[in-house]
Amino acid sequence: MFWDREIEALPRPELEALQLARLLRTVRRVGEHVPFYQTRFREMGLDPASVRTLADVRRLPFTTNADLRASYPDGLVVKGPEQVVRLHTSSGTTGKPKALFFARKDVDEAAELIARCLVMAGASQHDVLQNMMTYGLFTGALVMHYGAEKVGMLVIPAGPGNSERQLMLMQDFGSTVIHTTPSYALYFADFLERKGIDPRKDLRLRTGLIGSEPYTEETRQKIEDALGITVFNSYGLSEMNGPGVAFECSERNGMHIWEDDYLVEVIDPETGEPLPDGETGEMVLTSLSREAMPILRYRTRDITSIHREPCACGRTHARIERITGRSDDMLIIRGANVYPQQVERVLMRFPEVGRNYLIRLEGLDEMIVQVELSGATFDGQLEHLVRLQEQIVEKLRAEIMVRPKIELVAPGSLPVSEGKAKRVVDNRKL
Ligand code: AMP
Ligand code: ZN
Repeated sequence: MFWDREIEALPRPELEALQLARLLRTVRRVGEHVPFYQTRFREMGLDPASVRTLADVRRLPFTTNADLRASYPDGLVVKGPEQVVRLHTSSGTTGKPKALFFARKDVDEAAELIARCLVMAGASQHDVLQNMMTYGLFTGALVMHYGAEKVGMLVIPAGPGNSERQLMLMQDFGSTVIHTTPSYALYFADFLERKGIDPRKDLRLRTGLIGSEPYTEETRQKIEDALGITVFNSYGLSEMNGPGVAFECSERNGMHIWEDDYLVEVIDPETGEPLPDGETGEMVLTSLSREAMPILRYRTRDITSIHREPCACGRTHARIERITGRSDDMLIIRGANVYPQQVERVLMRFPEVGRNYLIRLEGLDEMIVQVELSGATFDGQLEHLVRLQEQIVEKLRAEIMVRPKIELVAPGSLPVSEGKAKRVVDNRKL
């Protein structure tokens, strides 16, 4: 099932010709209308007219998170006739957010890409989407909302949190598709279990569009088992219009990245050098059709690899692998490099382990992992708990080369955030 078969299955030579035409137009526009890029080009001695092939993208400057912050509020916006109709922001941990502007055409194109994703996940106008992402300045909910309306789905703008109300909406309006984060999906599954609701019998849910933060294949499995749904991995970032940048097809073997709108590269995050297809590194994206705020070679810091072999679904757009983390997520604990995703992968393989965890770093490099037990399998016997604790310590030590302390806690006792989950608290005094 395709939303727009012509573009989704465009033969690669034509797709690349389209990319090139759009890249040249983008480079020309930012060279003429965006002072930030004019300065960059001048500093690098780059004549925009000398960019002629797709491979020439490597000669263009990177744009970083810091560049976006420094150009706040509107230093990267094209000064042209195009009407800017919408503002979103993406918040960081400190200071001013990044401001992202959308022209009318950008709003439409973002919705168009979402429509492709939704139909790719098997959704249609007969579906009811419960959109549990945060509405407001965050792109996640609104961009999905517009795309789903385009498909003709009934959209319930539920927003995040308030599980009682979520459940009521699901029951009363027969929601078949949910859009949420992996952490909230797991939390909600727990909530249903506590209420004695069996989603397979009592609800009509069929599909989960799950993204906006990294999660593992093990977590996908847990969500699917607990909610009785098929989970599709959904990737996007505010700098590139929010959700709808890359999404899984029915093969669920990597996420198709919409290459007519995004030029994708993977680089070595240390050296900035491009890596060949299939190799893992930092993804870099260039927007090819954004009007209000084109961005060249954005350093996403997301770690993945690209695959361009044909996909059984018939789409020709490349696939990226599940994001395994961010280059700036890495923790250094007693000299070892540790990614939170490695911890998650180990934890979620234990059936006795519940749906939430928190990594705490304390004192002089002490690692404590708080782990919720699963309500269903926890029998309360002390010797079982002690054995489980030892098993988790051993498996984690083998994976991350650090011996953590494990604290098993009751289901539902760790904090849940409405937006992206906070998996690490670092209180070290190093
Ligand atoms: P934001 O700009 O606030 O929407 O955040 C975008 C970031 O969220 C991305 O750069 C990724 O780090 C993360 N993200 C979004 N979707 C996914 C996903 N499906 N898997 C892993 N990380 C994701
Ligand atoms: Zn496919």
